[in-house]
This record gives sequence, structure tokens and C-alpha cells, in this order.
Amino acid sequence: QPQSNRTKGGSAKVKKQLYIGGKWVDSGAYAPLYSPYSGVLLAEIPLATKEETERAIAAAYEAKTVMASMPAHKRASILEKLSQLLAERADEAASLISLEAAKPIKAARTEVDRTIQTYKFAAEEAKRVTGEMIPLDAAPGGEGRIAYTMREPLGVIGAITPFNFPMNLVAHKVGPAIASGNTVVLKPASQTPLSAYFLAELLEEAGLPAGAFNVVTGSGAAIGDVIVQDERVKAISFTGSPQVGIGIRSRAGLKRVALELGSNSALIVDKEVPLAKLIPRCVQGAFAYQGQVCISLQRIYVHSEIFEDFVEQFTAAASQLRLGDPLDPNTDLSAMITKQDTARALAWIEEAVQQGAQLAYGGTAASGMVLPTVLLEVDRTAKVSCEEVFAPIVIINRIQDVGEGIASINDSRYGLHAGIYTNNIHTAFEAVEKLHVGGVLINDIPTFRVDHMPYGGVKESGIGREGVKYAIEEMTELKTVIINRT
Ligand code: NAD
Repeated sequence: QPQSNRTKGGSAKVKKQLYIGGKWVDSGAYAPLYSPYSGVLLAEIPLATKEETERAIAAAYEAKTVMASMPAHKRASILEKLSQLLAERADEAASLISLEAAKPIKAARTEVDRTIQTYKFAAEEAKRVTGEMIPLDAAPGGEGRIAYTMREPLGVIGAITPFNFPMNLVAHKVGPAIASGNTVVLKPASQTPLSAYFLAELLEEAGLPAGAFNVVTGSGAAIGDVIVQDERVKAISFTGSPQVGIGIRSRAGLKRVALELGSNSALIVDKEVPLAKLIPRCVQGAFAYQGQVCISLQRIYVHSEIFEDFVEQFTAAASQLRLGDPLDPNTDLSAMITKQDTARALAWIEEAVQQGAQLAYGGTAASGMVLPTVLLEVDRTAKVSCEEVFAPIVIINRIQDVGEGIASINDSRYGLHAGIYTNNIHTAFEAVEKLHVGGVLINDIPTFRVDHMPYGGVKESGIGREGVKYAIEEMTELKTVIINRT
């Protein structure tokens, strides 16, 4: 019963259920879910077994015929309704994210607004899943024939998602999957399953047929792998760490695999750039949601002519940020998702300092909250530089020219987004040409995304693109129809 399953702002300490084939079902085993900030028990989370996961896959497999034959206007109206239901319950949704992820409430509200948008974009895209006409007479022997292409749904999509945007990153899988007539088995992150049950309620109310959307929760390694290896699942859409994503790809056989992985995103600040507008943007990019954002601003390469000014203003602005309860509207940063992440952040800061970096601000933690931390002149081999830091830590290094900045950014296993602030159009285009990343931001930080643009990385940042229209391409098969008129 969805009503009894409601979390009322996430505060009810209820036993949750799996959502399989349009029904809420108990599981044999449960694990407690605690608030990362207060340690309060939020809910009991079912740990799906292999059999339960296989039942969810079977339900999605059975529902695929219904979804594939559903007219586009109906798929669009379900998504439109979903978006509207979420807008009606936006406050509840935001506090749910804030509670389970320790995301400051203002950031959680932004996530909910973006999720509403993502489903709206999906509703629109459902109406234009199109193909193209191919002029076959362009080749000798093609005379008298015409061809057109169409996009067919793949069937069951396995969606595996991370903790940091528990609603919007799920929307980037569920939205395009439904828009293009697929069905979904969702395995949300173990730390943030409440948003996924909430979505199941909304989808049911929006009129999605039973089985078209299923939620199984539990250990990623155990049930994630069941989804990855099951032959009825035709594609895996994964967002998460490179380590897990690369493993999934190696076990997925012939399935389509789209991977949205991590990064150590960077920014170049050229000489003569006015700092007043740029500093607040950089501080936001580096520390929003405790730096636990895949395009968080981790490395800043500043021209030596303005280096001292930049560091002084940036550090002053960082010191104004407020740490505390994620539900407090004045909070900028709250607790890290786990204690291990706090320990890791401190160890990485320590390592950088040992290697000669200067600690300009922060560097400590209390009650699971890491102070916004600014490190200067960090060695390229320090983990805070070359690994994905996923914590409120930023490094600022001095460069002699933009070329040095580009080389430093490219000296990475990752390549998601990179930015450059410059007044020189030639320099801007030099960066566009030479930066080896999925997206280049001119006069902005790398921490920018809206939900209809293509989004994804190169190198160990992933394969494939999200952004509803582009994800639909990943989730559909191109069929060519050739008509002989001779
Ligand atoms: P994670 O890789 O630990 O977990 C992601 C998901 O994979 C979870 O649902 C987890 O349970 C599951 N999982 C774990 N082991 C698995 C296995 N063996 N088989 C199948 N599934 C398994 O990531 P996280 O800590 O939740 O999220 C942080 C990471 O996500 C960061 O690296 C971040 O950069 C990345 N991320 C990327 C994007 C992007 O769009 N590129 C967006 C957000 C987060």
C-alpha cells in the first residue's frame, strides 16, 4: 500500500518494502538506515535477495510489451503527471533528500526543482523519438529504393545510481527509459534508498503500468551484479564511481553499458579576469554539497599575475560558509555521507601537506563535517590532485600561462568538465580545442549542468551521454526499413 509506505518528509521510522511488479513486498532481511548528520534511525531498508532481484527483472521483462506498444502521447502524459506530482510534494521530497543524504536543504530544493524539469524534458522527448530518411540512390544499386530509420525500445534497463543526487540522477535514467518505451529495474545507492521508494509511489499514482518500474535495494555488489549479469536486462545505465563502473562493464557481456563516472574537475583563471563575480561561483563549485558532486571544482589553476589576490579573496569567502544541520536553511555544508569519507578526506589533506602543499584554510573536521579546505601549490601526484576527492577540498596552483593550465588539466585519468575564465577569445578557443574532456565551460566553473544538455565524460569519467534526448539514443535500437519501389 503506497499510502502506508509514505515517509512523510522521511521522518517516519518505518519498515520499507521492495517495489516489484507494481506491488510493495516485504523482504527476508532488513538493515537500519541512519541519518549521516544526526545518526537518527530513518527507516529499515529491505535487503533484496538474488531471487527477489530476479523477480523484479521478470516483472520488468513481462511489462516490456505493454510499454513498447504504449503510444507516445500516453508515455508523455505519464511523465508530465509525474513531474506535476513531484512539484506538489516538492517540500517533502527536498526534506527526504536532505535527511538521507545530509544535503543542505537549499541544495536539496534545487535538486527537486531540477528533477521536476528532467521529467518535463522526458515528457517532451517522448513525443519526438524519431528516425531519418536515407537517400538510398546515393549509392549505385540503391535506385528505386528508399529507407527510413526508427528507434525501438531495448526492453529492460538496469539503472544503478549513486548517493549524491538520489532524485535527479535517477530521473536521468527513469525519464528517458519511460519516454522511449522501456521498463526499469532500479538499484539505488544503499545510503539513499528513500528517494527511490518515493519515486515508485509517484509513478504508480501517475499511472505507469505495473512492472514498468521496480525498485530493489541492498548491497551493490550482491544485487547490482544480478542485474548486470541477467540476460533479460538489455542495457545498464550506471552512475557512480569509476571503480564500480569499470567492473560492471567487464561483467556486462553484450549489454549496452552507459557509464557516468567520477572526475577531478578543474578550472583555469587567466590574467586580467575581474575576480568579484568569479569568486562566489568558484566557492560554490568547490564546496556545494560538501564537494560530493561529480563535477565539483577540485583543481584551480590561476595565472601568477592574479594568484595572490585570488587566494586571498577565495579563502575569505570560503571562511564565511556555515556548517551544520542539513535541514537548516542557513547551512552551506553538512556531514559527509560516511565516517570513512571524513577520515579519507583528512588523510588526503595530510598527505598533500606532507608533500609540500600549503594549507590556506580548513583541514579539520568535527561531528562528521569537514571544514571547507583550501590547499595551495599541491604536487600533481598528491591524491587531492590526481584522484577524485569527493569532499570539500580544493587545490589552487599557480600557472605562468594558460598552456600550463591546459597541460595540468589534461594530466588526469579523468575528463568530465573543465572551465576557463579568460578575456581573450583566442585563448578560449585554444582551451576548447586542447582540453580533453566531455564539456568545456567558457567563463564559468565546471560545476554547471542543466538537464537537457548532453552530459558525460571521456577517459575514466565514462562512456555515453546523458541529458534526456541523448540518453534515449543509448536506450533505443535503430531499425532500418528499406522499401523497394522497383
Ligand atoms: P558507487 O560506485 O560506490 O555506487 C554507485 C552504485 O553502484 C550504488 O547503487 C552501489 O550500490 C552500486 N554498486 C556498488 N558495487 C556494485 C557492484 N559490484 N555491481 C553493481 N553495482 C554496484 O558510487 P557512490 O559513492 O554512490 O557515488 C559517488 C561516485 O559517483 C563518484 O565517483 C561520483 O563522481 C560519481 N558520480 C558521477 C556522476 C556523473 O554523472 N558522471 C554523477 C554523480 C556521481
